[in-house]
Amino acid sequence: MRFRTRFAPSPTGPLHLGHAYSAILAHDMARAAGGDFLLRIDDIDQSRARPIWEAQIITDLQWLGLTWDGPPRRQSDHLPAYRAAIDQLGQMGLTFPCHCTRRDIRDAANAPQEGGPPPTGPDGLIYPGTCRHRPMAAMGPGDAIRLDMTKAMDMARQTAARGFDEIGPAHQGHHPITAHNMIATIGDVVLARPAMGAAYQLSVVIDDAEQAVTHVIRGQDLFAATAIHVLLQALLDLPTPQYHHHHLIRDDTGKRLAKRDDARAIHSYRAEGATPQDIRRMIGL
Ligand code: GLU
Repeated sequence: MRFRTRFAPSPTGPLHLGHAYSAILAHDMARAAGGDFLLRIDDIDQSRARPIWEAQIITDLQWLGLTWDGPPRRQSDHLPAYRAAIDQLGQMGLTFPCHCTRRDIRDAANAPQEGGPPPTGPDGLIYPGTCRHRPMAAMGPGDAIRLDMTKAMDMARQTAARGFDEIGPAHQGHHPITAHNMIATIGDVVLARPAMGAAYQLSVVIDDAEQAVTHVIRGQDLFAATAIHVLLQALLDLPTPQYHHHHLIRDDTGKRLAKRDDARAIHSYRAEGATPQDIRRMIGL
């Protein structure tokens, strides 16, 4: 099968060294394999996405010397596909509408532990189950849609349990997915948020399948979320790509560059006269 990977930035800010690392690594791996490198604009969160950042990201990637195959795919152009997948999961009886606020969830999750920090997973606080009994017919305008993890794992027991193959050095090997882990450490993930047609965990699965991605190359911060994606692929009968989660670029104190408020953007390095080779050197590529 032809190697196909992608870089999927969210246009919510400028490209930093950490993003550049991810993009260049995926690009170089695709070119070395004689395969395709795709660009996807993860603008599903329209409250934070800005066209100006999308334009800046594209300019920066071009300046870095990267080329991608075909036009960039924008998530906001594919809402009906996400909605169809959510409906399919709904028809399988695996979803429920949820009107809990973050505060409701925190309070309910906190209660049994008397003040300990509420447990969190890759999709945020582990959902305490407050709305799980509600049927989809009761859905209100401000409700989110969640996946009932216990039912979902029950239905996907055979297929999801096969897991996924990780080719990145930090977690290299085969990773099976178990109901116990999914329920205890991830919980009822959000598939759609009230103001957004779909949530990241769902849209990324549809995008990777529609773009026929064979290798997902992205930061290690998303490793734990991959189990959610593999479960959704099993439920929706979509192929599971191979995964390569790379290390994150950090500053001297160990803080993740992409999360630092004063992290230097690629365009500032460029304005100061750095070359694309200097950027590659700085991130060890
Ligand atoms: N837009 C996501 C991010 O910037 C990318 C997720 C992915 O590569 O799957 O974190």
